[in-house]
Amino acid sequence: MNQSDIDALRSQVLSPRSHFIGGRWVSASEGGHRDVLSPIDGTVLTQIAEGTPADMQAAIAAARVAFEDGRWSRRSPAERKKVLLKLADLIERHALELAVLGVRDNGTEITMAMKAEPMSAAGTFRYYAEAIDKVYGQIAPTAESVLGLIHHAPVGVVGAIVPWNMPLMIGSWKLAPALATGNSVVLKPAESASLSLLKLAELAAEAGMPDGVLNVVTGSGRVVGETLALSMDVDLLVFTGSGATGRRLLEYSARSNMKRCYLELGGKSPNIVFNDAPDLSEAAKVSAGGIFRNAGQICIAGSRLLVQQDIHDDFVAELVEHAESMRVGNPLDLDTQIGAVHSLPELDSNLEFVAKAEAEGAERRTGGRRILEDTGGYYMAPTVMTGVKSTDNLFQNEVFGPVLAVTPFKDEDEAIRLANDSVYGLSSGVWTSNLGRAHRMIAGIRAGMVHVNTYGGSDLTVPLGGVRQSGNGHDKSLHAFEKYLDLKTAWIKL
Ligand code: NAD
Repeated sequence: MNQSDIDALRSQVLSPRSHFIGGRWVSASEGGHRDVLSPIDGTVLTQIAEGTPADMQAAIAAARVAFEDGRWSRRSPAERKKVLLKLADLIERHALELAVLGVRDNGTEITMAMKAEPMSAAGTFRYYAEAIDKVYGQIAPTAESVLGLIHHAPVGVVGAIVPWNMPLMIGSWKLAPALATGNSVVLKPAESASLSLLKLAELAAEAGMPDGVLNVVTGSGRVVGETLALSMDVDLLVFTGSGATGRRLLEYSARSNMKRCYLELGGKSPNIVFNDAPDLSEAAKVSAGGIFRNAGQICIAGSRLLVQQDIHDDFVAELVEHAESMRVGNPLDLDTQIGAVHSLPELDSNLEFVAKAEAEGAERRTGGRRILEDTGGYYMAPTVMTGVKSTDNLFQNEVFGPVLAVTPFKDEDEAIRLANDSVYGLSSGVWTSNLGRAHRMIAGIRAGMVHVNTYGGSDLTVPLGGVRQSGNGHDKSLHAFEKYLDLKTAWIKL
């Protein structure tokens, strides 16, 4: 990837996109469009179709027909694998275009976007394609006179609703195992970040995905998202996004056909630094990256830093230095380390968190303000707040922005108590050279993931999911297949 290739794509004019339903590009049934703003400079980037309930119903119907006639669901795993591998190749071939498209509507710095979006999406499709013809059924240990078979059957029509951060990566975590297992899918991207997923649908068709197997409907969550979640004809809902929306989806499920819902929600992840960390300077650098990259808009961001009392002041000083040295700027510039905040309302909300924290007695050590306003874009200086108490708003609530809450602790017991003083349980980190302590922390922290002597970064082989109000179910790894397959048994008298 070099700057001139990126520059050739950065101001490419984009034409308005339609829904992708039943293998065709179709306009919104009422002809509506919605502007997509670029967080890079606040200008209108393009328009997407403003979906209606009728559009969503058409997509669900197309997915149902495709599922029932077996054009994909009854193909052999080896045949599905071929198409998905071709899709992975196409994603890779269009990687830069997909990355730039995504950065233009969501603001992630291009170096991170390239790796985390198209390259990870290609890897995800390849992983599940390669895995699907290695999933075996079972024979139950019955008496000789009967045969008990345990099959894995696709669930049917899957509704997938994804957020604006890392849409291609998160979308692929859902689409790849759902499609590999033979389901049909209706995808609802976030209204502000649909472009790369629409391109993915185009590539899927080019790879040979039969019509109606993958459908994409754009528009408002409260309109098309709600129609999808309330549908009597959707068998499974997979979601990544906020807790407030997740709660609604459970309600919609209860009000309709009690479809299964797998939710990946928010977090307020503790990153705990003990005085016996193997390398405190490394810990400060990685911890700064763990909260500030992508302007803090990462679900597993280490947004609560818990530091042992006796190293607190020195550690915070070093971390502040890192925060101040990170380059915030146009996410399409290769040397940018922190891109744009996704939208103006998000930026305002971030600043409000800072103001409230100060009102509650926290100290702003750096940042806390909008910068580069003359670009028209939405940028915020990385922010470190110290003296944050466990009862404070900033300790308890997810900002989803570049704002770090720092709280000192005395000993292991207090670290675990503070770490678990949250409704969330997504990720966490522990920095220590004491192996026993690392294991006690892994056991004691209530979170889906514990990093030890690092923060962030894992690969596709490791499941990602939360506990408590961070969600249920897991994306990634072979465990993801469990969500998209029903166990179906046969009892045969011999
Ligand atoms: P959001 O809940 O506002 O939106 C997510 C999706 O839900 C969008 O597509 C939106 O249109 C749709 N939606 C909104 N209201 C709906 C409704 N009533 N019915 C159906 N669909 C509806 O979340 P967001 O702001 O896009 O994303 C940020 C949140 O996502 C943060 O809380 C973040 O922590 C979380 N997140 C979690 C993970 C994870 O793996 N746990 C990963 C990334 C982001």
